[in-house]
Amino acid sequence: MSGRIPEEKIEAIRRSTDIVDVISDYVQLKKQGRNFFGLCPFHGESTPSFSVAPDKQIYHCFGCGAGGNAFSFLMEIEGYNFVEAVQSLGQKSGIDLPEVQENQSGSAKTNSENDTIYKAHDFLTKLYNHCMVKTPEGEQARAYLNERGFTKEMIEKFQLGFAPDSWDYATSYLEKRNYPLAKVADAGLLAKREFDGKYFDRFRNRIMFPIWDPKGRPVAFGGRIIGDGEPKYLNSPETKLFQKGKFLYGFHLTRSAIRLKDQAILLEGYVDVITAYGNGVQNVVASLGTALTKDQAKLLRRQTESVVICYDSDKAGTNAATRAADELMEAGCYVRIAKMPGGLDPDDYIRTYGAERFEKDVIGAASTVMAFKMEVFRSGKNLSDEGERIRYIEEVLKEISRLPNAVERDHYLRQLAEEFSLSLDALKQQVSQFFKEGKKSKDNAPPKRDNNARKNFYVKKKLLPAFQNAERILLAYMMRDLEVAEKVQEEVGGSFNIDEHSAIAAYLYSFYANGHEADVSQFMEQLTDPNLVKIASELAMMDLNNDVSDKELHDYIRQVLNYPEWIKIEEREKEKKEAEMKQDFVQAAKIAMEILEMKKNLKNSF
Ligand SMILES: [Zn+2]
Repeated sequence: MSGRIPEEKIEAIRRSTDIVDVISDYVQLKKQGRNFFGLCPFHGESTPSFSVAPDKQIYHCFGCGAGGNAFSFLMEIEGYNFVEAVQSLGQKSGIDLPEVQENQSGSAKTNSENDTIYKAHDFLTKLYNHCMVKTPEGEQARAYLNERGFTKEMIEKFQLGFAPDSWDYATSYLEKRNYPLAKVADAGLLAKREFDGKYFDRFRNRIMFPIWDPKGRPVAFGGRIIGDGEPKYLNSPETKLFQKGKFLYGFHLTRSAIRLKDQAILLEGYVDVITAYGNGVQNVVASLGTALTKDQAKLLRRQTESVVICYDSDKAGTNAATRAADELMEAGCYVRIAKMPGGLDPDDYIRTYGAERFEKDVIGAASTVMAFKMEVFRSGKNLSDEGERIRYIEEVLKEISRLPNAVERDHYLRQLAEEFSLSLDALKQQVSQFFKEGKKSKDNAPPKRDNNARKNFYVKKKLLPAFQNAERILLAYMMRDLEVAEKVQEEVGGSFNIDEHSAIAAYLYSFYANGHEADVSQFMEQLTDPNLVKIASELAMMDLNNDVSDKELHDYIRQVLNYPEWIKIEEREKEKKEAEMKQDFVQAAKIAMEILEMKKNLKNSF
């Protein structure tokens, strides 16, 4: 399974990696007792059943059964193969690995192609940044950013750059460095002239905003024209490495602040993020020039439950904010919407009034989504006009009918009833009418999640037959204790009654035989079958006493070994009943004697 990476290297990387750190990059974890819990990234859920055990360096989801160690986590969440997972963690922990040749030529080719594109983005990020900061061509861009309040630190942190007004600035540098221009053009960094097939710079006379994937690798650019020109923004096209609906701008820099504050501020554009971050409001992200997608909502939800949307106050911003709110609530977030005063956008506001006032007066004063929508419906309507008033009330009632929480529904209904002196019962009736209509029209939509449900964390315990439990407990102890494993090997060997248990036992025997010490996370690497990994991670998470007495072990072993005998006895019991039905009492008595004998043997055998 380990490909060509030497075993010692893999071990070194595993030892210097903390699975809690690795998983925290993707899931917001909270400590509960010895373990950490969070929402499973592999299946949709609103109550955390995904657990990480730092002492064992493994994870397991009690909801969907996913489980494994840090390597398997990256394989599952990033789609890496084992070698890529090892390389990625090696990089993180600063352990150098020899160049690895993949055996499947297909994936090797894709990897090196991806690699070229990553490198080209990285190279151009540095090149454009250099041009902006250090060269006379960058003067105009520096002045432009300076005037808009961008500090040196912001430019550095977000690696802002300048693509000069030239057809071959980037092209010639890339050519000199032997980049395959066709590939680089495919990734949207260059363009191709129809008439002679020559490549030229796609980004010209633009401030360049690198866009990173969640791991902090630049994978695209947004380019804003300096001065007049079209289009105002030119962005990289979508590629295999860059799907803008899946990334959030700034996320790789701000993720830890979001987790720390347990709150994310969702802004509209790059500039808002840079200004906020540069002024000390660091728990910010922006969607990438599109309406917030489901994937982006989920990405945020894994970091925090609480999101404040802070978009521009114009009509487009208001509409986008309510749509984003719906998407985030669907993903299980608790959402509020901040209103920008006086037509300012967040960037203007922070530069004018400072970050402190932004946090206190704008973010702190954010309203619930419902209150925000009510204000939007109200704006531009003359509520003393009966027709407009009725239209307003209907819009609000429709919105109320979509609220998942009964207390909230009641709150706004009462508010509405009071404000317009209406009968509460009539409003309730109307809401339930809207609810039914809404349900009909979106029966296929996923159910809204109840945020409160996640507080009542509860793991269902499966009821298993005794022998199966015994096998599981034995394996769990064997994974933790070499001596137990040796004893079981001697007495049970391969005689587990469930195939998967037999397989895990066999792996354990050979794991210890190869001189390893008990180490659940390391053991999991030996398991090639993902199904076995799942079972092993579940067993490893079992709550067991530290020490198991010989008596207990003996009982479990007996249950495992006796199980086939018990099956036989059960069959004989059936035969005895059949004989009695046929009134063949001689035969029945004979079988009864045999059964007695079998049971006696079971007892004597221990
Ligand atoms: Zn799960």
